[in-house]
Amino acid sequence: MPGEAPPIDPELVRVIAETRGFMPDDEGAALRRWAFEALTRVPSGPIIEVGSYCGRSTLWLADAARIAGGHVVTVDHHRGSEEIQPGWEHHDPEVVDPRSGRMDTLPHLRRTLERAGMEDLVTVVVGQSSVAGGLVRSGASMLFIDGGHGDAEARVDAATWLDHVAPGGLLAIHDVYPDPADGGRPPYERIYRPAVDSGRFVEMAAVGSLRVLERSR
Ligand code: SAH
Ligand code: MG
Repeated sequence: MPGEAPPIDPELVRVIAETRGFMPDDEGAALRRWAFEALTRVPSGPIIEVGSYCGRSTLWLADAARIAGGHVVTVDHHRGSEEIQPGWEHHDPEVVDPRSGRMDTLPHLRRTLERAGMEDLVTVVVGQSSVAGGLVRSGASMLFIDGGHGDAEARVDAATWLDHVAPGGLLAIHDVYPDPADGGRPPYERIYRPAVDSGRFVEMAAVGSLRVLERSR
C-alpha cells in the first residue's frame, strides 16, 4: 500500500461525481493514493495524464498534487476518441460543439478545474498525444495513460510516453483487461504487456481496470 494521503474533502467528491467521465470512484481513489505516493518518491517530477476528457480523473490526480506540493500536466486534443464519437455507445451529445458538430471537451475541462478550485494545480495541454510527448519534459513522478484505446493510438502512446517516467516513479494505465471477455485489448496488449515484458516496470497494484506499475531505479 502507498503512503497515507489525508482523507479527501467531501465537497471535492461531490464535484467529481458531477463531472462527466469514465473513472469509477474506487479506481479514482486508488489513482489519488498512488499519485501521492509517486510524489513522495519523485517530488520534483510532474504528474502527466494522457486523456483529460472533462477532468474527472484529473481531479483525483490534482488533489494528490495539492496535498504533496506537485503539479499535473494533462494532455488531450479534446476531439474525442474513436469509441466516443457520435453513434457510439459512450458518446455524450452534451460535449458536441453545436457550431462545428464536432466533439469539444475543453470547455468542460476548464469548468471542472474552475469548480474544484484547481486551475493553478493543472496545466492543460491541447494537442495530439504523440506531438505533446516530444515537447513535455521527462522525469514524471507519475504517468497516467487513459487516451485513445485503438490499437495504433495505444501503440503510439506507449512509444511516446513510457520513457517519461522517472526511475522509481509510477506508471498507471486505465482500461487494462487481461481477459478479452472484460473489454478492449489495446491498453493491455500495447501498453501494459510491453511495459511489464520489458523488465523496466513491475506491477504494484490492480484496482478494477487500473494498473499501477513502478519503474525500476
Ligand atoms: N481520463 C478520462 C477519460 C479519458 S477518455 C476520465 O477518466 O474521465 C480518452 C480521451 O483521450 C478523450 O478525451 C480523447 O479526446 C483523448 N484522446 C484520444 N486519442 C488522443 C490522441 N491521439 N491525442 C490526444 N488525445 C487523445
Ligand atoms: Mg479510461
